[in-house]
Amino acid sequence: MEGRLTFLGTGTSMGVPTLGCNCPVCTSADPRDRRTRPSVLLRWRDGGRERVVVIDTGPDFREQALRSGIQRVDAVLYTHGHADHILGLDDLRPLSFIVNRESGPIPLYASAEAAEVLTRVFDYTFSPKATYPTRARVRLEPLDERTRVHEVEFLRVPVLHGELEISGFRFGRVAYLTDVNTIPESSFALLGGLDHLVVSALRHKPHPSHATLDQAVEWARRIGAKQTWFTHMAHELGHEETNRMLPAGIELAYDGLTIPVTLG
Ligand SMILES: [Zn+2]
Ligand SMILES: [Zn+2]
Repeated sequence: MEGRLTFLGTGTSMGVPTLGCNCPVCTSADPRDRRTRPSVLLRWRDGGRERVVVIDTGPDFREQALRSGIQRVDAVLYTHGHADHILGLDDLRPLSFIVNRESGPIPLYASAEAAEVLTRVFDYTFSPKATYPTRARVRLEPLDERTRVHEVEFLRVPVLHGELEISGFRFGRVAYLTDVNTIPESSFALLGGLDHLVVSALRHKPHPSHATLDQAVEWARRIGAKQTWFTHMAHELGHEETNRMLPAGIELAYDGLTIPVTLG
């Protein structure tokens, strides 16, 4: 089955431009240097109807959804509970009213770590005592090794983000790994035969919980996907100049980029 993957956001937690910064990337006229918080959208057709899965709902989710024409969401998968990946959950509300009428609350698949943060931050949504009338119609579901959303199976790919084990995902011949600084050997084994690898590459300088560009290039070579896309970039990496230095088959993604993908 064929689908389309859209990069809703390709920026680091602070976004690019970064507030208060006047560096060449933050003041660049190239629209590809404007990066919202990291998220991807996967769409495919199930007979006559479109299916939509979002990975993470960061603080820019509303604008991203408007730009990409999102009309419904069948499920959300969360990589982890950090603010730049979850704070747009409330903007699922209007979409959840539509989905709820036809098939019930939108399932949100989250690890125990992410579910704990979501229930705390969005207490007014998840508490059994919640009475807020326009709360999102969503339900938390455990994130198992495999999660099926209609016809597509998402395989969890555990990776490390500093000390924290978070979730990457493989679906068909695509993998999405954000906020990673270590890929365990057991997870490399889940990444064979990819058409597209999406992996985070923060900047050149080392960071305790994110990969540098060089580290990400090394992983891309080892995993050997036909095409690798970098995401979750900080303002140290200008689109044009960074792309020029990258080996063939590796490119920076940018907000709004949509690629055809094979889902199995
Ligand atoms: Zn800057
Ligand atoms: Zn994070």
